[in-house]
Amino acid sequence: MKQSIELKLAPEEGYDEAAVRAAAVAKLSLPADAPDVSVVLRRRSIDARGRSPVVVIGAEVFAGELPASEPPVSARYKTPRGDRSVIIVGAGPAGYFAALELIELGITPVVLDRGKDVRARRRDLRAIQQFGIVNPHSNYCFGEGGAGTYSDGKLYTRSVKRGDIRKPLRQLVEHGATPDILVETHPHIGSNKLPGVVSAIRETIERFGGTVRFDSHVTDFLIENGVMRGVVVNGVEELTADAVILATGHSARDVFHLCHRRGVTIEAKPFAMGVRIEHPQSLIDDLQYRQNPRSRFLPASSYRVAEQIDNRGVYSFCMCPGGLIVPAATAPGETVVNGMSMSRRDSRFANSGMVVEITHGDLEQYASHGVFAGLAYQQELERIAFAAGGDETQTAPAQRVVDFATGKTSVSMPDCSYIPGLHSAPLHEILPPQIGKRLQRALPLFGKRMKGYFSNDAVVVGVESRTSSPVKIPRRDDTLEHISTQRLFPCGEGAGYAGGIISAAMDGQRVAQAVAGVIL
Ligand SMILES: Cc1cc2nc3c(=O)[nH]c(=O)nc-3n(C[C@H](O)[C@H](O)[C@H](O)COP(=O)(O)OP(=O)(O)OC[C@H]3O[C@@H](n4cnc5c(N)ncnc54)[C@H](O)[C@@H]3O)c2cc1C
Repeated sequence: MKQSIELKLAPEEGYDEAAVRAAAVAKLSLPADAPDVSVVLRRRSIDARGRSPVVVIGAEVFAGELPASEPPVSARYKTPRGDRSVIIVGAGPAGYFAALELIELGITPVVLDRGKDVRARRRDLRAIQQFGIVNPHSNYCFGEGGAGTYSDGKLYTRSVKRGDIRKPLRQLVEHGATPDILVETHPHIGSNKLPGVVSAIRETIERFGGTVRFDSHVTDFLIENGVMRGVVVNGVEELTADAVILATGHSARDVFHLCHRRGVTIEAKPFAMGVRIEHPQSLIDDLQYRQNPRSRFLPASSYRVAEQIDNRGVYSFCMCPGGLIVPAATAPGETVVNGMSMSRRDSRFANSGMVVEITHGDLEQYASHGVFAGLAYQQELERIAFAAGGDETQTAPAQRVVDFATGKTSVSMPDCSYIPGLHSAPLHEILPPQIGKRLQRALPLFGKRMKGYFSNDAVVVGVESRTSSPVKIPRRDDTLEHISTQRLFPCGEGAGYAGGIISAAMDGQRVAQAVAGVIL
């Protein structure tokens, strides 16, 4: 017999396997010690709407029968015959999950990344954090695992249309992620665990005959009569294959320029920019859980806010509870901030992007850049933020939240998680009015909804400019090939078909299947 049940448990029970089992058998009036009863957790979330937060659990209880076991995805991997190979440019989530899918399909993947493997990459991240030195090939966006490695590791996608979200989650678990990600409504891995998962994926790719090469910057394409034949690596080495998957992420500006130069059509697309906002985590816990300090059984709390201000969306983006603000620039002379967290999400801070939709009208003054108008705007804002940081390193311009909204320069800075440090700057004047003025109006409104949110204990840090790519590399709906270049498959976030780790991974899988449809 199998029965599906829902349980509402106190936090100290909801994360304890034995307590969940006890509550499940009690709910069905089964004997507590029955040997032939199994309780399988299917989902877990927190409901913080009542006086005290409760953990809501969906479970299946099996009595007198065993739960069906699903064969691992890894059982489907097979060593390719070697007669078909595909170059994948980019070892981010899109590239690595495309490679795993190709292995399932019997096609050899050759993955090229301009950055370093996860371990070597760490040294470059330290150089950014401590000395403000940005290596343009190895940073928070470039290198093994892409922008997804040293990130918050939130694993959800807002789009249900994208396909089977469980498959990449199961593959992450098979490569070392906690099985909890299969049941949590808001699954999360964390920056300390992701590098191990990413290197385990590389080992699988290599074990099944694929190749992964680092320090391999694709600098040109080999296109003959509108057909992609291969790529040039580091300006000298020509590599050919049956198809090329281009999964270079939203920060590879040189790749967009390369496409344009080689006649690979690209298009402008909507995007958003703004700031990171950081509060003490205890303040957010107090708002969300009405607990300060929060129960040690509860995870650091998060929030999501959105408002329409003057016909534009102003919204929180990529919230990192118990996390850190990190310097995510990909070239010297620019300042870009983003957020990450460790698996335990135990820092004292809660940060989130707070961004404004950018529209066509904002780009008029960049019209001479044509399709690159959005990129030019993004780049200019990052340079302005760098200059406003004041010391030619990754020190970021910042302002206390109420000071920002009321137009006062802050006389001091609160404690902040951003390791390179903050420099008090009048962001209300520095940000373009279409962004700054909307943020100034939105923040007090968010404060009305969440009492205490609009506070000078919180700080805005500039600039959050890489929420998504301002350029898209369009593809055909049927074969997923580029609209004008055959055998070129734009993929993931840089191509404009994903936004986040899981959607990029799923796009990689989808594109790999499409490649098989064309080349097999
Ligand atoms: C700090 C931070 C935190 C984030 N937190 C989250 C989160 O919690 N949850 C979430 O869902 N998303 C998060 N994101 C976003 C997420 O990481 C991206 O959406 C996702 O990684 C996109 O995957 P992708 O494979 O399309 O591209 P990317 O991950 O950007 O990978 C592209 C790869 O291509 C390589 N490359 C670029 N140009 C070339 C070239 N010319 N030749 C060879 N290689 C090249 C790069 O080195 C890189 O490794 C975060 C991003 C950052 C920066």
